[in-house]
Amino acid sequence: MPNFEDTEIAFANTTNAKLRKSYYIFQFFQYNTLVDWGGRLAQWGLKWHLPVGLFAKPTIFGQFVGGVTLKETERTVNRLSMGGVFGILDYAIEGKTTERAFDDTLAHKLDTLEYIKHNDNVKMISVKVTGMGKFSVLERVHRGDVLLQSEQKEYDRLKERLHKLCAAAEVASTGILFDAEETWIQKPLDDLLEEMMAHYNKEKAIVYNTYQLYATSRLGKLKEDYEKAQKGGYILGAKLVRGAYMEKERERAEELGYPSPIHKDKDAVDKDFNEALDYCMDRFGKGMAFCAATHNEYSCKYMADEIARRGLPKDHKYMFFAQLYGMGDHITFNLARAGYTTAKLIPYGPVKEVIPYLVRRAQENSSVEGQTSRELSILTKEMKRRRLL
Ligand SMILES: Cc1cc2nc3c(=O)[nH]c(=O)nc-3n(C[C@H](O)[C@H](O)[C@H](O)COP(=O)(O)OP(=O)(O)OC[C@H]3O[C@@H](n4cnc5c(N)ncnc54)[C@H](O)[C@@H]3O)c2cc1C
Repeated sequence: MPNFEDTEIAFANTTNAKLRKSYYIFQFFQYNTLVDWGGRLAQWGLKWHLPVGLFAKPTIFGQFVGGVTLKETERTVNRLSMGGVFGILDYAIEGKTTERAFDDTLAHKLDTLEYIKHNDNVKMISVKVTGMGKFSVLERVHRGDVLLQSEQKEYDRLKERLHKLCAAAEVASTGILFDAEETWIQKPLDDLLEEMMAHYNKEKAIVYNTYQLYATSRLGKLKEDYEKAQKGGYILGAKLVRGAYMEKERERAEELGYPSPIHKDKDAVDKDFNEALDYCMDRFGKGMAFCAATHNEYSCKYMADEIARRGLPKDHKYMFFAQLYGMGDHITFNLARAGYTTAKLIPYGPVKEVIPYLVRRAQENSSVEGQTSRELSILTKEMKRRRLL
């Protein structure tokens, strides 16, 4: 069974220099105010075309991003594969609003799929629907507004891009994990991905939707989607997460005066997350493909134990674990060493373009309770073991 305390396995392919750097980065994350100001400064610097990358590239970029280009990222992918971990690549561009930029993102995603055909260490890609279509249009579809003709065209083009991407993934025999984002664009995301699954998941799991179990409605939606998939004769692809936008969701709900869609406390979220794991494991081999995308040790241990207890295969491609690159190495590499299918989600892209992703990573790390202290305690343990501290 995996032992998450084993830091020697966790950092087997990490040099002393990289370990030290990670240690100082997570030390920095303990200072919420500094992180907050750092984030603002980075956004401001980007706006004024200042060379933010000069500072970011040798520090936080290297911690959380695989590289600028696919070629550069290949080194990261290969290093991870030495620990038995496969890569999920994400050309991590965010916040674009023009049709040209959306076409550009699609082109990059298609390049990644092409690349995967020649690198067995990468098995999937990750995609944000808002990287390929306008947020404001999705928001209006979610609300049930009647779209203007121009908006309808934009929405149709988004759907076309998704079809192109899924068709290419089908040819490459690769899965696509579609991110979950804000709940106020969830309905069109669900509808679009249901359409994609019904089309592309007949034989294999190509398309995966993400279920944020911090939202009170998502466990029910997971069950509903599975039933629909069964009736429609396709495989449900499900990525299970707790959810990354809790504060934003609560603030918006309060501001606009509607009940928060988020569970009132962490225990309720944990309960739904672990129930979702059970629900998916119960249906393994019966039209269900799923991924536990989490850094939560209890959930990972629970799923690993249950897989073993139920006699399910540890190394199946339709039941796997995933953590973000730069975090949770003690979980990822120990799960992989114990024989479980485990992945790292590796963002890549030009420094300037991935700054918004990095700011979110920094802010999440300094705000998610206990996460930074856990990373630090693991890094400290390994530093001491190597006599670096
Ligand atoms: C591979 C991967 C892919 C991901 N993709 C997505 C994605 O597509 N969309 C997305 O939104 N997120 C995504 N995430 C982020 C994820 O949703 C979590 O924010 C992050 O992983 C922390 O949750 P955890 O389960 O790892 O750890 P934990 O530390 O156990 O959980 C922290 C999470 O619990 C919830 N929480 C904490 N306190 C409270 C509270 N008081 N009340 C209610 N809830 C609370 C929040 O969701 C918080 O992020 C992804 C994560 C990974 C590892």
